[in-house]
Amino acid sequence: MTADHQPDTALPGPVHLLRPDQPLCACGNEDAPFRGELRTVRVPPGAVRDERVWRCAECHRQHRAELAAAQWAGMPAANWLAGVAGPGKHDVVIAWGSKPEQPELLPCGVRWHAVRMAGHIGKPVLDRLLSDGASVGPVLRAGRTGALYWLLPVEVDARARWAQLPVRLLTSSSYLAAPSPDSHAHEPAGWVHWPEVTGTLTSPELLATAIERELYAGASR
Ligand SMILES: [Zn+2]
Repeated sequence: MTADHQPDTALPGPVHLLRPDQPLCACGNEDAPFRGELRTVRVPPGAVRDERVWRCAECHRQHRAELAAAQWAGMPAANWLAGVAGPGKHDVVIAWGSKPEQPELLPCGVRWHAVRMAGHIGKPVLDRLLSDGASVGPVLRAGRTGALYWLLPVEVDARARWAQLPVRLLTSSSYLAAPSPDSHAHEPAGWVHWPEVTGTLTSPELLATAIERELYAGASR
Protein backbone atom coordinates (compact mmCIF):
# COMPACT_ATOMS: atom_id res chain seq x y z
CA MET A 1 0.00 0.00 0.00
CA THR A 2 1.38 3.42 -0.86
CA ALA A 3 1.06 6.45 1.34
CA ASP A 4 -1.66 7.81 -0.98
CA HIS A 5 -3.97 5.00 0.01
CA GLN A 6 -3.58 5.39 3.76
CA PRO A 7 -7.00 5.97 5.31
CA ASP A 8 -7.23 9.50 6.59
CA THR A 9 -7.84 8.69 10.23
CA ALA A 10 -6.00 9.43 13.43
CA LEU A 11 -3.62 6.76 14.70
CA PRO A 12 -5.18 4.50 17.32
CA GLY A 13 -4.10 5.04 20.90
CA PRO A 14 -2.40 2.45 23.12
CA VAL A 15 -4.20 -0.87 22.92
CA HIS A 16 -5.05 -1.06 26.62
CA LEU A 17 -6.86 2.28 26.45
CA LEU A 18 -9.05 1.03 23.63
CA ARG A 19 -9.63 -2.34 25.28
CA PRO A 20 -9.62 -2.05 29.06
CA ASP A 21 -9.73 -5.84 29.41
CA GLN A 22 -6.49 -6.28 27.45
CA PRO A 23 -4.01 -8.02 29.78
CA LEU A 24 -0.91 -6.02 30.62
CA CYS A 25 2.38 -7.48 31.81
CA ALA A 26 3.64 -6.25 35.19
CA CYS A 27 6.61 -4.72 33.32
CA GLY A 28 4.17 -2.50 31.38
CA ASN A 29 4.39 -4.44 28.09
CA GLU A 30 0.99 -4.38 26.37
CA ASP A 31 1.74 -7.57 24.46
CA ALA A 32 1.21 -10.10 27.27
CA PRO A 33 -0.09 -13.35 25.74
CA PHE A 34 1.10 -15.74 28.47
CA ARG A 35 -1.34 -16.79 31.19
CA GLY A 36 0.30 -16.92 34.59
CA GLU A 37 -0.86 -17.94 38.04
CA LEU A 38 -3.91 -16.62 39.89
CA ARG A 39 -3.26 -13.88 42.42
CA THR A 40 -5.53 -12.31 44.97
CA VAL A 41 -5.88 -8.55 44.74
CA ARG A 42 -7.60 -6.13 47.11
CA VAL A 43 -10.65 -4.45 45.69
CA PRO A 44 -11.87 -1.57 47.85
CA PRO A 45 -13.74 -1.41 50.03
CA GLY A 46 -12.37 -4.35 52.01
CA ALA A 47 -13.03 -6.98 49.35
CA VAL A 48 -10.62 -9.24 47.47
CA ARG A 49 -10.76 -10.75 44.01
CA ASP A 50 -8.75 -13.47 42.27
CA GLU A 51 -7.35 -12.46 38.92
CA ARG A 52 -5.02 -13.98 36.40
CA VAL A 53 -1.44 -12.72 36.00
CA TRP A 54 -0.46 -12.14 32.37
CA ARG A 55 3.10 -11.96 31.11
CA CYS A 56 4.88 -10.74 28.01
CA ALA A 57 7.22 -13.16 26.24
CA GLU A 58 10.38 -11.98 28.01
CA CYS A 59 8.82 -11.92 31.51
CA HIS A 60 7.30 -15.36 30.83
CA ARG A 61 10.74 -16.73 29.90
CA GLN A 62 12.30 -15.09 32.97
CA HIS A 63 9.58 -16.51 35.21
CA ARG A 64 10.14 -20.03 33.87
CA ALA A 65 13.90 -19.64 34.35
CA GLU A 66 13.31 -18.63 37.98
CA LEU A 67 11.09 -21.66 38.56
CA ALA A 68 13.71 -23.90 36.95
CA ALA A 69 16.45 -22.39 39.13
CA ALA A 70 14.38 -22.77 42.30
CA GLN A 71 14.40 -26.55 42.03
CA TRP A 72 18.22 -26.60 42.22
CA ALA A 73 18.59 -23.94 44.89
CA GLY A 74 19.44 -26.31 47.75
CA MET A 75 21.88 -28.45 45.75
CA PRO A 76 25.67 -28.13 46.11
CA ALA A 77 26.94 -26.14 43.12
CA ALA A 78 29.34 -28.90 42.00
CA ASN A 79 26.51 -31.46 41.91
CA TRP A 80 24.33 -29.11 39.88
CA LEU A 81 27.08 -28.36 37.36
CA ALA A 82 28.15 -32.01 37.06
CA GLY A 83 24.50 -33.07 36.68
CA VAL A 84 24.67 -32.66 32.89
CA ALA A 85 27.28 -35.43 32.67
CA GLY A 86 24.59 -38.13 32.98
CA PRO A 87 25.84 -41.40 34.49
CA GLY A 88 29.35 -39.89 34.73
CA LYS A 89 28.25 -37.09 37.05
CA HIS A 90 29.47 -38.84 40.20
CA ASP A 91 32.91 -39.34 38.66
CA VAL A 92 33.04 -35.61 37.88
CA VAL A 93 32.09 -34.63 41.44
CA ILE A 94 34.66 -37.06 42.88
CA ALA A 95 37.37 -35.78 40.51
CA TRP A 96 36.64 -32.18 41.50
CA GLY A 97 36.72 -33.20 45.16
CA SER A 98 40.42 -34.01 44.93
CA LYS A 99 41.37 -31.49 42.19
CA PRO A 100 38.82 -28.66 42.01
CA GLU A 101 40.91 -26.66 39.53
CA GLN A 102 41.08 -29.57 37.06
CA PRO A 103 38.62 -28.95 34.16
CA GLU A 104 36.15 -31.72 33.38
CA LEU A 105 34.34 -31.92 30.04
CA LEU A 106 30.65 -31.11 30.43
CA PRO A 107 28.20 -31.45 27.54
CA CYS A 108 26.47 -28.23 26.46
CA GLY A 109 22.83 -28.19 25.39
CA VAL A 110 21.61 -30.42 28.21
CA ARG A 111 20.76 -27.98 30.99
CA TRP A 112 22.42 -24.88 29.58
CA HIS A 113 23.93 -23.38 26.48
CA ALA A 114 27.31 -21.71 26.70
CA VAL A 115 28.08 -18.52 24.81
CA ARG A 116 31.75 -17.68 24.27
CA MET A 117 32.99 -14.16 23.66
CA ALA A 118 36.29 -12.30 23.71
CA GLY A 119 37.34 -10.97 27.10
CA HIS A 120 37.45 -7.33 25.95
CA ILE A 121 33.71 -7.58 25.23
CA GLY A 122 32.69 -9.97 27.98
CA LYS A 123 34.46 -8.29 30.90
CA PRO A 124 32.77 -4.86 30.58
CA VAL A 125 29.43 -6.58 29.91
CA LEU A 126 29.80 -8.63 33.10
CA ASP A 127 30.84 -5.59 35.14
CA ARG A 128 27.87 -3.63 33.81
CA LEU A 129 25.30 -6.36 34.48
CA LEU A 130 26.59 -6.97 38.01
CA SER A 131 26.62 -3.27 38.85
CA ASP A 132 23.05 -3.04 37.51
CA GLY A 133 22.09 -5.79 39.96
CA ALA A 134 21.05 -8.15 37.16
CA SER A 135 20.60 -11.87 37.84
CA VAL A 136 23.71 -13.39 36.25
CA GLY A 137 24.46 -17.09 35.92
CA PRO A 138 27.90 -18.75 35.95
CA VAL A 139 30.63 -17.11 33.86
CA LEU A 140 33.87 -18.97 33.16
CA ARG A 141 37.10 -17.36 32.00
CA ALA A 142 39.64 -19.31 29.99
CA GLY A 143 43.08 -18.51 31.42
CA ARG A 144 45.03 -18.74 28.17
CA THR A 145 42.77 -16.71 25.85
CA GLY A 146 40.81 -14.66 28.38
CA ALA A 147 37.57 -15.59 26.58
CA LEU A 148 34.42 -15.65 28.73
CA TYR A 149 31.85 -18.45 28.66
CA TRP A 150 28.34 -17.60 29.91
CA LEU A 151 25.85 -20.28 30.88
CA LEU A 152 22.35 -19.59 29.52
CA PRO A 153 19.11 -21.57 29.44
CA VAL A 154 18.66 -23.93 26.50
CA GLU A 155 16.60 -22.19 23.78
CA VAL A 156 15.24 -23.68 20.57
CA ASP A 157 16.00 -20.56 18.52
CA ALA A 158 19.39 -19.88 20.11
CA ARG A 159 21.37 -19.97 16.85
CA ALA A 160 19.26 -17.23 15.34
CA ARG A 161 19.64 -15.06 18.43
CA TRP A 162 23.46 -15.17 18.46
CA ALA A 163 24.13 -15.26 14.71
CA GLN A 164 24.55 -11.48 14.40
CA LEU A 165 26.87 -11.00 17.38
CA PRO A 166 30.62 -11.69 17.69
CA VAL A 167 30.05 -14.69 19.96
CA ARG A 168 30.03 -18.45 19.52
CA LEU A 169 27.15 -20.58 20.76
CA LEU A 170 28.15 -23.91 22.31
CA THR A 171 25.22 -26.30 22.29
CA SER A 172 24.60 -30.03 21.71
CA SER A 173 27.77 -31.87 20.63
CA SER A 174 29.98 -29.16 22.21
CA TYR A 175 31.68 -29.53 25.58
CA LEU A 176 32.74 -26.99 28.15
CA ALA A 177 35.97 -27.74 30.03
CA ALA A 178 35.01 -26.50 33.48
CA PRO A 179 36.70 -26.59 36.87
CA SER A 180 34.66 -27.12 40.02
CA PRO A 181 32.51 -24.16 41.09
CA ASP A 182 34.46 -24.43 44.36
CA SER A 183 37.78 -23.80 42.59
CA HIS A 184 39.45 -20.44 43.16
CA ALA A 185 42.12 -21.06 40.52
CA HIS A 186 42.40 -18.89 37.39
CA GLU A 187 44.33 -21.45 35.33
CA PRO A 188 43.61 -23.19 33.10
CA ALA A 189 40.15 -21.67 33.62
CA GLY A 190 38.33 -19.99 36.49
CA TRP A 191 34.84 -18.85 37.42
CA VAL A 192 34.75 -15.06 37.33
CA HIS A 193 31.14 -15.15 38.49
CA TRP A 194 29.14 -17.81 40.27
CA PRO A 195 25.52 -17.00 41.24
CA GLU A 196 24.36 -17.08 44.85
CA VAL A 197 21.41 -19.30 43.93
CA THR A 198 22.50 -22.57 42.31
CA GLY A 199 20.80 -23.10 38.98
CA THR A 200 20.61 -19.40 38.07
CA LEU A 201 21.34 -18.86 34.38
CA THR A 202 21.84 -15.57 32.54
CA SER A 203 18.89 -14.32 30.50
CA PRO A 204 19.84 -14.59 26.79
CA GLU A 205 17.78 -11.48 26.06
CA LEU A 206 19.59 -9.53 28.77
CA LEU A 207 23.01 -10.69 27.63
CA ALA A 208 22.41 -10.03 23.93
CA THR A 209 21.18 -6.51 24.72
CA ALA A 210 24.18 -5.83 26.97
CA ILE A 211 26.61 -7.04 24.27
CA GLU A 212 24.96 -4.83 21.65
CA ARG A 213 25.21 -1.88 24.02
CA GLU A 214 28.90 -2.58 24.67
CA LEU A 215 29.66 -2.90 20.94
CA TYR A 216 27.82 0.36 20.25
CA ALA A 217 29.67 2.12 23.08
CA GLY A 218 32.98 0.69 21.82
CA ALA A 219 32.29 1.89 18.27
CA SER A 220 31.53 5.44 19.42
CA ARG A 221 34.56 5.72 21.75
ZN1 LIG B 1 6.81 -8.18 30.82
